[in-house]
Amino acid sequence: YFFIFSSVLSIPRTSVSFEVMPRFSGKTVIITGSSNGIGRSAALLFAQDGANVTITGRNAERLEETRQLILKSGVSESHLNSVVADVTTSDGQDKLVKSTLDKFGKIHILVNNAGAAIPDPNGIFGTDQGVNIYHKTMQLNLQAVIEMTQKVKPYLMDTKGEIVNVSSIVAGPQASPKSIYYATAKAALEQYTRSTAIDLIQHGIRVNLVRPGIVETGFMTAMGMPDQGAKKCYNFLAEHKECIPVGVAGKPEDIANIILFLADRNLSSYIIGQSILADGGSTLVMGMHAHNMMDILRS
Ligand code: NDP
Repeated sequence: YFFIFSSVLSIPRTSVSFEVMPRFSGKTVIITGSSNGIGRSAALLFAQDGANVTITGRNAERLEETRQLILKSGVSESHLNSVVADVTTSDGQDKLVKSTLDKFGKIHILVNNAGAAIPDPNGIFGTDQGVNIYHKTMQLNLQAVIEMTQKVKPYLMDTKGEIVNVSSIVAGPQASPKSIYYATAKAALEQYTRSTAIDLIQHGIRVNLVRPGIVETGFMTAMGMPDQGAKKCYNFLAEHKECIPVGVAGKPEDIANIILFLADRNLSSYIIGQSILADGGSTLVMGMHAHNMMDILRS
């Protein structure tokens, strides 16, 4: 076909090239919690797809690993803004917004990804966890999202931008008796997402959410588990079909790709205030499915 067309139009074959414009070219993204895991993967994918990216986290060493990963992938330094900050502090949030505007001028996309199930230092789980753990958990998984949304809103109104929040399958409707506060925070985040989506769409800002199941990241080590222990847990869950039916723990890019989809107005413009679940089937399994009725009858 090309040969025929180029002959008809008298175009020399060598002079035609098909360059695909990166889909986030000219867009600026802030991704909280990008010094590790899902946020790191999203930062890499956004940057490779043409975006200006602000990466951030508290751990300077891990944040530098993210920066190096992105630079090594061929992205220019001029597309990257790396900020060591605690997203639960007002100063940290202000630093994120100001440094992004100083370097890139605008903000088009906010990904509220930073989050954790904050462990009780006394090893307590469930109902008896201290109220101080509740406060810290809510501050990181909910309040920081609320504050970042408020601070970035004027700039997203200007660009008709997008917000993508990161929740979790622990938000329900199943119970999460071991990490009650974390599950409560994520459930609240989901209602916050729906409500802000309707409030902000009048300004042209879209808000959506991704809901991961088990994903192999630094999540378990952040809960105080040694690396080897975390690996063992991910392997165990993957080997038990009643835990992860697809038989493998999620990779950060499984979730990062959904974040990019929800941030891409060309692909997802009609999705408002929704959540996309990616959990390898985990939440479809009921406890009773773990047992074989025939075995019960035979016993
Ligand atoms: P990681 O522990 O790998 O990454 C968490 C990121 O959040 C890190 O970059 C960490 O950076 C950052 N972070 C934590 N606390 C703060 C803080 N106070 N200030 C700034 N940054 C902070 O975990 P994931 O990638 O798995 O987690 C990403 C999101 O996915 C979270 O919201 C989590 O709740 C959610 N999720 C994860 C699941 C999983 O199985 N992995 C399942 C469901 C949801 P630093 O330590 O440098 O501050």
